[in-house]
Amino acid sequence: MGRTILHVDMDAFFAAVEQRDHPEYAGKPVIVGSDPKEGKGRGIVSTCSYEARKYGVHSAQPISRAWKLCPHGIYVLPDMEKYARVSDQMIGIFFEFTDLIEQVSIDEAFLDVTGSEQLYGSGGEIALKIKERIRRELKLTASVGMAGNKFVAKVASDLKKPDGLVVVQPGHEREFLAPLPVGRLWGVGPKTEAVLRKAGIERIGQIAELPHGDLIMRLGKNGAHLWQLAHGIDDRPVVREQEVKSIGHEFTFEQDTGDRELLKSTLLGLSEKVSVRLRAHHARARTITVKYREADFSTYTRRVTLEEAVDTAEKIFPAALGLLNSLLRPGILVRLIGVSGSNLVTESSGEQMEFFSEPQQKDRKLASAMDAIVRRFGDSAITRAALVKPAGRKTRGN
Ligand SMILES: [Mg+2]
Repeated sequence: MGRTILHVDMDAFFAAVEQRDHPEYAGKPVIVGSDPKEGKGRGIVSTCSYEARKYGVHSAQPISRAWKLCPHGIYVLPDMEKYARVSDQMIGIFFEFTDLIEQVSIDEAFLDVTGSEQLYGSGGEIALKIKERIRRELKLTASVGMAGNKFVAKVASDLKKPDGLVVVQPGHEREFLAPLPVGRLWGVGPKTEAVLRKAGIERIGQIAELPHGDLIMRLGKNGAHLWQLAHGIDDRPVVREQEVKSIGHEFTFEQDTGDRELLKSTLLGLSEKVSVRLRAHHARARTITVKYREADFSTYTRRVTLEEAVDTAEKIFPAALGLLNSLLRPGILVRLIGVSGSNLVTESSGEQMEFFSEPQQKDRKLASAMDAIVRRFGDSAITRAALVKPAGRKTRGN
């Protein structure tokens, strides 16, 4: 049976998130990377907007070079916690169409939607729905390739960037690939490309026309692999994301504090963040850990394992508060607290919604409604009555 595979790749991800969050950056060259220090910086460009690419700026380029090419660009330091949060929201959208997701990096994933077509329409229709939801809920664009395997889907998603959709119908893989340069094949680096070019081979179609043995003679084992790809053959399955081991957030106070109410409300906010990310990953945690750092940097952790795996702040917060209370000492100021969930149970590992106890089901209904609001309006849209957002030095997620 044929498979239907999507490769979804966000467009200029970090730069697009910054343009979204700073409307004054729209239409301008935005370069996310290390500090250019007026051309003396030593780091590299992480991602840049399409406007910056027109100046020759690109990912992995030395930031000093980018500065030379585009001195009037908007240079932004990466905010990985924010990008990870948007990435979780992206995965959350994918999960509504299939649970067979292989996340390749923070902003791209393979989705096997073979089993979802009856429910949600053809692969191409699912791709459109996903693009539309990313646009509406995340205010970002993604490019999608659809094909019968991972390799062709990946090539397809890259072809019409940004905001592209390329559908390769089953049986048409070979003719789709034929006109493309050999450099698009996985496993063709500059060295192999030089060998091929010497033999007058520049297009994938030319590789497909070579006898199998001929290619092996020229390129050894890699030749067999390239021959397969050039024919659009790739049997590798979509492998579920390496299971996330823990999901956590921590918060460093602007000023060391002994204020119990502030500690409590901060802990609630962290529990909320952890719960949103757990649900985005369709995971529940059986173990809750609290991290606690005093003003002199002495650091403690305490953990508790619960009867039932949980994914709501209503369940995480009381457990975390119990742990925090066991750590607090009168007169000692606190610098940082953190909450994490581990010992994760994912829906694909067996337990289903029916196994939630009644009160958890109620919490979950409320929680999914909140997730939808967060996706739509951003993190700050939801403030619990008891949650007073404290001003902090920084927060960090993992
Ligand atoms: Mg991308």
